[in-house]
Amino acid sequence: MNNNKVVAPTALLTGQTDEHIVWLSKRVGIHQQMLNAWQKLQQEAKESGFDLQIASGFRSFERQLTLWNNKFSGAVIVKNKNNEPVDLTQCNNIERINAILLFSALPGASRHHWGTDIDIYAPDLLKNNQKLQLEPWEYQQNGPFATLSVWLAKNSKKHGFYFPYNKDRGGVAIEPWHLSYAPLASHYQQQLTVAQLTHAINHSDILAKHCILKNIVNIYKKFIINLNNP
Ligand SMILES: [Zn+2]
Repeated sequence: MNNNKVVAPTALLTGQTDEHIVWLSKRVGIHQQMLNAWQKLQQEAKESGFDLQIASGFRSFERQLTLWNNKFSGAVIVKNKNNEPVDLTQCNNIERINAILLFSALPGASRHHWGTDIDIYAPDLLKNNQKLQLEPWEYQQNGPFATLSVWLAKNSKKHGFYFPYNKDRGGVAIEPWHLSYAPLASHYQQQLTVAQLTHAINHSDILAKHCILKNIVNIYKKFIINLNNP
């Protein structure tokens, strides 16, 4: 792939199109140009005894917006770093925004819009009644996916994948399930601007719009570009 040609339109960067997506199932889609690398990684995992699957791939702006508004309104529980529910009734707007951004991206700024980022797991490692939660303990020592995490840390890089949320940097919490495909995602990350985000937020029905726009530069610095680099 010629990296100089990895230029993305605003619609792709902010989740307003799925033209770049190939659907692996009804629910799960990924970037067309990542399909080959993903299949190689999945095959190699299989040869090592892991049934590597995608829990969540492409997500549109609209879906991220629904999630955001549900969390902001209290319809969906917002948790803190210790996995405890946050009482949003005790929070002002910016406190609510910061609490949500710990685990959920601002619509328009989710790396899942790009199709280059996936949340992975291995269904067969869950015991009979266990359900996937996408919580750090599942991937850490003694969790069901601990062995998978060790394997991915060793083997994902050679296929172009890395973990953008590998540790707590004071922005997004650690997400040991979130893999990113560097050959595309690193370019998209550089191309997504505050101006594009502002435009997308401005034209949406997002809750706390005024407060988000007022703090957009800080949000951008703290949650959107404050990550591990490949
Ligand atoms: Zn993710």
